[in-house]
Amino acid sequence: MNINDSPDLSIVIPVYNEAENITNLYGELRKTLDDAKITFEIIFVDDGSGDNSFQIIRKLSETDPRVRYASFSRNFGHEAASTCGFRMVQGRAAVLMDADMQDPAELIPKMISKWQEGYEVVHARRLSREGESFIKKATSYAFYRIINLFSDIKLPVDVGDFRLVDRKVVDAFNRFNEHSRYVRGLFSWVGYSQTVIDYNRLPRKRGKTKYNWLRLILLSMDALFGFSLVPLRLCIIFGIVTIVFSFIVAAVIVIQRLFLDLAIPGYALLTTGMFLLGGIQLTFLGVIGEYIGKIYLEVQGRPLFIIRESSPDPQDVKGA
Ligand code: UDP
Ligand code: MG
Repeated sequence: MNINDSPDLSIVIPVYNEAENITNLYGELRKTLDDAKITFEIIFVDDGSGDNSFQIIRKLSETDPRVRYASFSRNFGHEAASTCGFRMVQGRAAVLMDADMQDPAELIPKMISKWQEGYEVVHARRLSREGESFIKKATSYAFYRIINLFSDIKLPVDVGDFRLVDRKVVDAFNRFNEHSRYVRGLFSWVGYSQTVIDYNRLPRKRGKTKYNWLRLILLSMDALFGFSLVPLRLCIIFGIVTIVFSFIVAAVIVIQRLFLDLAIPGYALLTTGMFLLGGIQLTFLGVIGEYIGKIYLEVQGRPLFIIRESSPDPQDVKGA
């Protein structure tokens, strides 16, 4: 495809068992973008779905050449699927969105007008999140603030994956090779002029969320450990504080022995102290282990994903 044919916009959609949503999503995108006179392509990345999501996508692409796809050999996760999608982008800008219609298509023309004003990254910020539990909202609220406190980059608060990025940003993103990746963080890390537009996040149309608690915790850890060395430094700080504390305790004991002649049972202090120190040591060994684990994953240098099948366009296989 030569550059003059490239569409205005590429829409990247990771898909994992979303058979009930794909056709509707496609219809809505097509209507919204055609109405807004935006030329586009839709890139579905099937992340090893077990249902017939992939068959639906392939059918769509047979009837509409603007639909392109890649299908993974197994489930590699949302971060890998979006990475693959970005490597397939041909448009002058790209939007990343969920397949479950939680991200409203009508926001895209608004993002485009921000982009035309000159912003290179347009984040969509969730004002409200219908249909999600209080606990999910509360932990998400806390998560963004903790991450910003600890990490070297600032993540825009309450922004999910839904965003528009300029071609330049896509190219920058495609240069990242790291294995554990927190896509939202990387898009902040790259810099460029960024802005935020607000929207009300809709509940999922059909199907259920693929993010259970464990996956959310693991993703948060990737975010924290991927963007910050602060947890490592915390070990040192806690270590020093503990050492100072033990000197104070020692001094107190000596003073009590010499001047007050107190016989201290010491049992309480010893047992609690033992568990406390044991706990601190285990926690920080874990922190160090987490970084070592990451180093191990990176030196293995395995591919981020494996494509079983992609739309018949040689460029699609790039980066597989
Ligand atoms: N997804 C994916 N691979 C996975 C899990 C999810 O490609 O392993 C896709 C999923 O199909 C959806 C998007 O990522 O399009 C976000 O997932 P979900 O809606 O389940 O997350 P939530 O919106 O509940 O955080
Ligand atoms: Mg969703």
